[in-house]
Amino acid sequence: MKAIRVQEPGEPDVMKLEEMADPTPDVGQIVVQVKAIGVNPVDTYIRLGKQGYAPKCPYTPGMDAAGIVEAVGAGVTGFAVGDRVYCAGTLSGAYAEKALCDQSQVHRLPERISFQQGAALGVPYGTAYRALFQRAGAEPGETVLIHGASGGVGVAAVQLARAAGMVVIGTAGTPEGRKLLEAQGAHHVVNHHEPEHLQQALDLTGGQGVNVILEMLANVNLGHDLPILAKGGRVVVIGSRGDVQITPRLLMGKDASILGMTLMNVPKPALASIHTALIAGLENGSLQPVIGRELPLHDAPQAHRLIMESSAFGKIVLMP
Ligand code: NAP
Repeated sequence: MKAIRVQEPGEPDVMKLEEMADPTPDVGQIVVQVKAIGVNPVDTYIRLGKQGYAPKCPYTPGMDAAGIVEAVGAGVTGFAVGDRVYCAGTLSGAYAEKALCDQSQVHRLPERISFQQGAALGVPYGTAYRALFQRAGAEPGETVLIHGASGGVGVAAVQLARAAGMVVIGTAGTPEGRKLLEAQGAHHVVNHHEPEHLQQALDLTGGQGVNVILEMLANVNLGHDLPILAKGGRVVVIGSRGDVQITPRLLMGKDASILGMTLMNVPKPALASIHTALIAGLENGSLQPVIGRELPLHDAPQAHRLIMESSAFGKIVLMP
């Protein structure tokens, strides 16, 4: 099979398409014939060797994929050769024609969801669900500000929050991104490049403040998020690319909280519950991943450059 390999940490061009032996499944493992691969910002941090758990080189990058079960190992239950599935994590790396997975990483892909959409689920939808429900404990009727809603995690969060009966305010930096959010069901959309956008969000709540903020770029926004929180408000820090100054007094007066999260920390039972809920939403049509761009697998370096640029529009996927 062909796979992208990272020979050493570095810039996108350290990723090369190479020929490799096909994987074979051991006990409890599944080999998936990959039809589409999700590109996530974390793939670029790991490639740079910055993420704190840089794998040993050479390795195949990527966590998210969708495809067809090609082989199952002894002891695998619930999956058979030919099943349509998505992978939320792999053992061998997702940027390849075939991926070896533990069976706990493999989930059934509903018929109405394409392979490209299936490749957009693991990290983005898993993160959005974890942040919204398991960290923030968001409730129907609450107002949720999704700060950076035009990308993979943000679109997922808009769909999840809307389906759960929350009032959704989304931010995006481009006109196309803002149109996308309106189409995805955000009740209100503001431009995070305009200095007054958080005042606009506060005004949209009638001055009451927002109950939950999902923050994709905390180093830029966190200090400005706190003044617009409602009493008991929660900010979940999902993404941050540097340091930030905050005024802790703004938390005290409102009994407000800042919560961190990383998908890697989600305990197995909570992760299983996330995917059960996601599959239900995919089946009933409330979740519909948006694919902004498809590139061939050998263009992985270009995909990594694109995902670190602004002007997000849903997901970037690679096609083997
Ligand atoms: P993405 O698809 O590249 O989207 C990035 C988002 O950030 C876009 O909506 C972009 O909006 C927005 N953005 C840019 N400038 C912004 C600003 N000044 N204020 C608010 N938002 C801004 O990335 P993603 O997959 O959605 O991931 C988003 C972030 O979460 C990344 O930093 C990623 O590393 C992190 N993440 C963390 C976890 C975790 O476990 N904690 C999991 C997944 C992702 P425009 O392009 O429209 O300007």
